[in-house]
Amino acid sequence: MLIDDKGILFILSGPSGVGKGTVRKRLFEQQTDLKYSISMTTRDKRPGEVDGVDYFYKSKDEFEQLINGNQLLEYAQYVNNYYGTPREYVVNTLDKGYDVFLEIEVQGALQVKKNFPNGVFIFLFPPSLEELKNRIVSRGTESNDLVTNRLREAKKEIDLMEEYDYVVVNDNVDHAVEKIQSIIQSEHCRRERIAKQYKKILEDE
Ligand code: 5GP
Repeated sequence: MLIDDKGILFILSGPSGVGKGTVRKRLFEQQTDLKYSISMTTRDKRPGEVDGVDYFYKSKDEFEQLINGNQLLEYAQYVNNYYGTPREYVVNTLDKGYDVFLEIEVQGALQVKKNFPNGVFIFLFPPSLEELKNRIVSRGTESNDLVTNRLREAKKEIDLMEEYDYVVVNDNVDHAVEKIQSIIQSEHCRRERIAKQYKKILEDE
């Protein structure tokens, strides 16, 4: 948390099936001051998932009302479902000085970049495309069509790496989490951010 200043927005994104969800969950199992922004989605709840914890589950109509009411910071249609980030939660939490963490697919990340160019964009990268394919297939909860769709999306997404500040190879979940924690720590030590706080302290004298 920054003293008397806004928090930092961290965006974890990357190809479909790279393990963004797993890495994000492991990161939040550790002690952290980060606030996770729970997304809205129209997709069906998977076994074990809880409304208001994993996602806020919405009907298509409800989701479209959120879009029309400009209540989403970004949203994307992904494999025939909507996914989106609640604007108010993110803006209010950053204003309170907390860091906010988003875990979203790449189209949404690009939209966030337009509104929050100072956000820190982290691209989670697969150790190899072959491994990525195996992970998507072995998840086994989806039909062949869905698997083919997810793979096609993944190849397009990899081209988007250039838009990011950091790339973390997900060869091992714990290593990936450690690297993300280092990125967060480094961003808090950036001269621009520190100088701003110190100037403020002196101005208050
Ligand atoms: P899943 O259905 O496996 O939970 O998520 C599918 C994809 O949607 C993942 O790549 C996940 O990161 C992404 N996703 C989750 N929440 C959001 C969101 O709020 N916005 C966007 N654009 N993508 C999201």
